Amino acid sequence: MINEDIYEIEKISAGKCGVYKICESREVSMYLVCGSKKACLIDTAYGLNDLSEICSSLTDLPVTVVNTHGHIDHVLGNHWFDNVYMHLDDRNLYLEIVSGFADMIREPWVKEKYGEFVNCIDPDDISFPDANDIVDGDVIDLGDKRLIVAGIPGHTAGSIVLIDPDEKICFSGDSIIEQAWLFLEESLPVETYLKNFKRAVELLRKFGIERIYSGHCANKPLTLSDTDIMISGMEKICSGVAEGRAFSNFAGIGIEYSFGEWSILCQGMDLIPYTSSLKPRLFEFTAICFEELGKKFEPSGRHSIYNCIESAFEVFYCLIDNDNVIGTVALKRFEDDSVELKALYLDSVYRGKEFGSLLINKVIADARNLGYKYIVLDSMSQYKDALRLYEKAGFRSIERYNDNTYADVFMRLDL
Ligand SMILES: [Zn+2]
Ligand SMILES: [Zn+2]
Repeated sequence: MINEDIYEIEKISAGKCGVYKICESREVSMYLVCGSKKACLIDTAYGLNDLSEICSSLTDLPVTVVNTHGHIDHVLGNHWFDNVYMHLDDRNLYLEIVSGFADMIREPWVKEKYGEFVNCIDPDDISFPDANDIVDGDVIDLGDKRLIVAGIPGHTAGSIVLIDPDEKICFSGDSIIEQAWLFLEESLPVETYLKNFKRAVELLRKFGIERIYSGHCANKPLTLSDTDIMISGMEKICSGVAEGRAFSNFAGIGIEYSFGEWSILCQGMDLIPYTSSLKPRLFEFTAICFEELGKKFEPSGRHSIYNCIESAFEVFYCLIDNDNVIGTVALKRFEDDSVELKALYLDSVYRGKEFGSLLINKVIADARNLGYKYIVLDSMSQYKDALRLYEKAGFRSIERYNDNTYADVFMRLDL
């Protein structure tokens, strides 16, 4: 039985052979394109239900699967099929998912993000087909219809789109999409993506593409005029005139640039635990921050704790941009069940762009994971921006809890 709570199926082309959009869990879209001899299923989402049964409810033709790229939310349903194609540059990504699948779905972040999926699948019962290679320019022959493969390395190295010239449709996976994710470890620099994107859009123009269907259940297809907005946005980013804001989610942190309804998440930041190799850069940054606050950084005097960060703090993070430390945040043990928020500093250039919240939220999550019950902090009433940040994160004023003569604001957050 097809679970109608999970799948919404819509015929998006009334041509002689149907084209169907199959949306899984209102999150990931697959497309079934039928020709006279064969049908092609573009992506397989998480494959929560028997996808081969869903396809046979729509067509009698044999089904070939093509994955737009190797990400988990586009390939996991591959195990319902024997015949699967993918760009060879995403093969390793696919193999990683397939080989680590049983362990991966037991990880806490997977359970949190994909609870529904994790609960209804036994990883030991599943085996994945090997993927056959496709490359840029390949043609998938469905009989009286063909699909043309166009590569757009960027989101991943092996990302492709498929062009249906008869229906003037492009199936674009995560490559031409309402929010482009380029902040992932496996993503390529925005300059590379832009170059490949332009080349692919030229091809779409040549075929007179009217509708671009992305991989994530948008209400309406994109058009070529949307791609113009994307190109001009990326050009602004590449020439350094675009303003970005901090972004974080389950997949990591990045910088979000918004252009009208379209946005792109780029690499460019790292939030990493302190190690001694960061010491010179951290000291330089901290000295500048202290100076700005009218204080002197004295690592060999009253700030000697900075010489034994790893043992003195529960966690100590450095926010890195272009190899420079541009922010810090730390937690220090307070009482048995609590920690103190320390060393929250951010380079002035990055303020007002959500980076402060990113730092605070990181250590709040850590404190929770480490089992602490509350966080305290001391500050000064003149640091208005910092106090606003603390309040936004949920900290509330409390009575003085230490004898720090500089501090006149004391706050607490219950976890
Ligand atoms: Zn993806
Ligand atoms: Zn995706």
